[in-house]
This record gives sequence, structure tokens and C-alpha cells, in this order.
Amino acid sequence: MKIIAVGRNYSEHAKELNNPVPETPVIFMKPETAVLKDNKPFYHPDFSKEIHHEIEIVLKICKEGKYISEKFAGNYFDEIGLGVDFTARDIQQKHKEKGLPWELAKAFDNSAPVSRFLPKNSISDLYNINFSLNINELSVQKGNTKDLLFSFERLIAFISQYITLKKGDLIFTGTPEGVGKVNIDDRLTGYIENEKLLDFEIK
Ligand code: ZN
Repeated sequence: MKIIAVGRNYSEHAKELNNPVPETPVIFMKPETAVLKDNKPFYHPDFSKEIHHEIEIVLKICKEGKYISEKFAGNYFDEIGLGVDFTARDIQQKHKEKGLPWELAKAFDNSAPVSRFLPKNSISDLYNINFSLNINELSVQKGNTKDLLFSFERLIAFISQYITLKKGDLIFTGTPEGVGKVNIDDRLTGYIENEKLLDFEIK
């Protein structure tokens, strides 16, 4: 499996990092070794002094597809979950300044904690999902999918022009504003509406 992630898909987040609001989706990938499941702890790596949390809605792809049309893209995901797109912001910043790729800032081991998944049909409106992240019980990020710049269907159509999607692939759909640093001993809890899906510690 692979993880395909979308940068700058909420305009307020693009602005907080002084990035332009994009005209087409900004895409990057994380390898399978980035996945961290079952609320296992995240061990803070030594190579960064600034690991940022980015809470995101995650789509699970349910069948293989290429050149998927936006009209039928909804048939290609059947479950939704929560993920944290951990980002070594200090490394990313250096690479951005030099025009270099972001991989080392985004694709490192365990940089993609994911929750259990909910059936898509248990969600009444895909474009009115409230999701949030707390650190040590304090709210740090709150988003609603009505604010997505590129819809789930648009992302699937766009990505699949370039990259074949396969069953089990995950799409991280972008983070709302409020990203910030995590520290050792922090406890992160993530919610879709009032359902707690993520609950893990930084060690
Ligand atoms: Zn992200």
C-alpha cells in the first residue's frame, strides 16, 4: 500500500505557513513504513527539533483505478478515518528554501498515525464532517470538510491521472489551520464529531 497526501487543501492552513492557495492539488507521498496503527506511541526522532502535528481526514481506497472520473470517484473509497501527517517542519523549511523535495520531512518512519476506519455510509454528509485534535486535553486544531479546497472526488480524479490507486491505499486529504509542535510526553487525541478515534502519546 501507499499513502498519498495533499498539501494546502484548507486555505487558512496555507496562509498560516505563508504559502499561496494552490490552483491544483499539491501532492506528496509517504511509504508503508510511515504507517503507525492501533494508537501505538510515536517516538520523537532525533533528527528534528520541530515535529508538527497535522490532523487530517483519511480516505481508504477500496478498488483499483486509473483515470477515474470525478463523477465516479465516490465509488473508489468506502471508509473514512483520521490521521496525523507528522511533518519535520524545520527540515521541510530548509528543503523548501532550496527548492528540494520534502521526503525527509514527510516520509520518515511512523510519520502517519492512522485511526480505525468508519464506513463511509455511516457519515450523513461527507462535506460537513467536524474533526479535531487535542493535545493534553487542549484543543489545537479544528476543521470541517466544508472548507476543503479540493473535494475528495476531485482529489481521487486528479491523483489517478498520474498514479494508479489500489485497494488499501490511503489518501490524507489535508490539514486545517492550527498546526504546531509536539513534545515528548504529549498525549494526542483526535475526533471525528464526538467519536474519539486517535489517542496516543509522544515518547
Ligand atoms: Zn498534511
